[in-house]
Amino acid sequence: MSELLKKDKSWVWHPFTQMKGAEILPVVKGEGAYLYLEDGRKIIDATSSWWTNTYGHAHPYIANKIAAQLTVLEHVIFAGFTHKPATDAAEKLIQILPGGYGKVFFSDNGSTAVEVALKMAFQYHFNRGEEKKTIVVFEGSYHGDTVGGMSLSHRDAFTAPFSRLLFEVITLPVPSPENIDQLKADFEAICKRGDVGAFIFEPLVQGVAGMVMYEAEYLDELLDIAHNHQVLTIADEVFTGFGRTGRNFAQEYLSQTADVVCLSKGLTAGFMALGATVCKPFIFDAFYDDDRQKAFLHGHSYTGNPLACTAVSAGIDVLLTEETQNQIKFLTAEHLRFADALKSDERVEVRTLGTILAVEIKTNQSGYFSEKGQEAYRYFLSKGLLMRPLGNVIFLLPPYCINEKDLMDCYASIRSFLNSN
Ligand code: PMP
Repeated sequence: MSELLKKDKSWVWHPFTQMKGAEILPVVKGEGAYLYLEDGRKIIDATSSWWTNTYGHAHPYIANKIAAQLTVLEHVIFAGFTHKPATDAAEKLIQILPGGYGKVFFSDNGSTAVEVALKMAFQYHFNRGEEKKTIVVFEGSYHGDTVGGMSLSHRDAFTAPFSRLLFEVITLPVPSPENIDQLKADFEAICKRGDVGAFIFEPLVQGVAGMVMYEAEYLDELLDIAHNHQVLTIADEVFTGFGRTGRNFAQEYLSQTADVVCLSKGLTAGFMALGATVCKPFIFDAFYDDDRQKAFLHGHSYTGNPLACTAVSAGIDVLLTEETQNQIKFLTAEHLRFADALKSDERVEVRTLGTILAVEIKTNQSGYFSEKGQEAYRYFLSKGLLMRPLGNVIFLLPPYCINEKDLMDCYASIRSFLNSN
């Protein structure tokens, strides 16, 4: 065992990992779509390091911007102070988001971006003297690992130990051609009750549920209902933001936008931990008052961190280049081609949107703890690919800079895995 691994075994506790028997791989370097392991292996990061890395590891443009910021201002309290990296990042975010957002509230990660959105929605109603405490979510949703995030998420083995801590929500089925009429009628009846404060959703793709996808048209219809009944809408674009779905934001597929949007992961191009909750001006207005108690009394020590905010602006610069946009188009087209080729394969169901490709293996062992997922993870690693299946759903989600040969190798490995079963 290497020194690094020995130390890891002595001192470190890893996330989402049963440490007994865990196999941990030391990484010594990242570059583009590759990760270099201590034992000399070079693997393709086909999961974009938990979906965070959009333009490639150690991207020189972004790395240099952060490096330059490091010796100017690494961090400063963000209550009562501001700085150029934060104001630039906020301005750029509002400029590229569809829908006329007004203000950006920074936090630390995807879960806190959601917690902030939830608290913003609750206090919006509270400040206006309204009692609207019910939250509506979709079945199978995932909005984070904090207590609020878990409450909004699908209940399973992950949330079971904490069930007494979680608050109740109303859960709607994910829209489909079969259920949309009933769903609209049910949602309208729920909204009419007058106690619904917010409707939160992952637009078009439910990542953690296994890349479950649904039509923009249906979401638009539900948003209409919510907006007609003054129910605040929250788009959790933590996963779907920054090009993942083929457009810069999943909301660009809609004809309207949510009142609040949550961002993280690709927000800093995968370089730094940061969350952002962006709201429409009317929400901010409900907090803007002579009464100090109407302020949004929430914050984290690292709110608006200058290094992370620098990564936001640099990441947006890279996202908007022709090269990145072409890479997104290339991935989208290749995924579609591969999905089409697998369409008639009865062993699988294939789903794709933009740079996301999911291959669901039909098995009677579905769910996160499915052995299929473990088996697939080990198989792909042996082929030089880092893929982290969600149970029986294999998904391919590389940084956009992946080259054609590597992408074809990923598809070939998926095919050979299917054939080896
Ligand atoms: N929302 C969504 C849609 C997510 O996919 C995730 C993370 N997978 C989160 C929230 C939570 O983000 P984080 O892991 O940064 O807390």
